[in-house]
Amino acid sequence: MLFDLERVRKNVSTATTEDLLDRATAYRAGMEPDALDVIEEELQRRGVTTDEMAEHGRRRRLEINVLSDGTAARCSFCHRPAVAEQCGWHRLWGLVPIFPCLFRYCAEHQPERAEPDPQ
Ligand SMILES: [Zn+2]
Repeated sequence: MLFDLERVRKNVSTATTEDLLDRATAYRAGMEPDALDVIEEELQRRGVTTDEMAEHGRRRRLEINVLSDGTAARCSFCHRPAVAEQCGWHRLWGLVPIFPCLFRYCAEHQPERAEPDPQ
């Protein structure tokens, strides 16, 4: 698949600042260097300083699980970095439990009962 810089630019211009900060920090290890340049340019255009970016990365590192490829584990329900994990059941048609699986949750999707991973 060809790396489409124009598509990246379009996507980056409509992304939220939080999303861009996550891509530049928590997901940095998995980003194309060219895409990273576009993201950092956009953050700069929006007035985000390198200090603010570093602070976002520092806060994320305290709460996320890092995968073996160096990127953050994603929420099972959106693109945000996961801050908690919990076992659940994969359900056929949303009803019949088939097999247990691990769900990951960002701060927004975290159920009240889920405890952050003790690390
Ligand atoms: Zn989420």
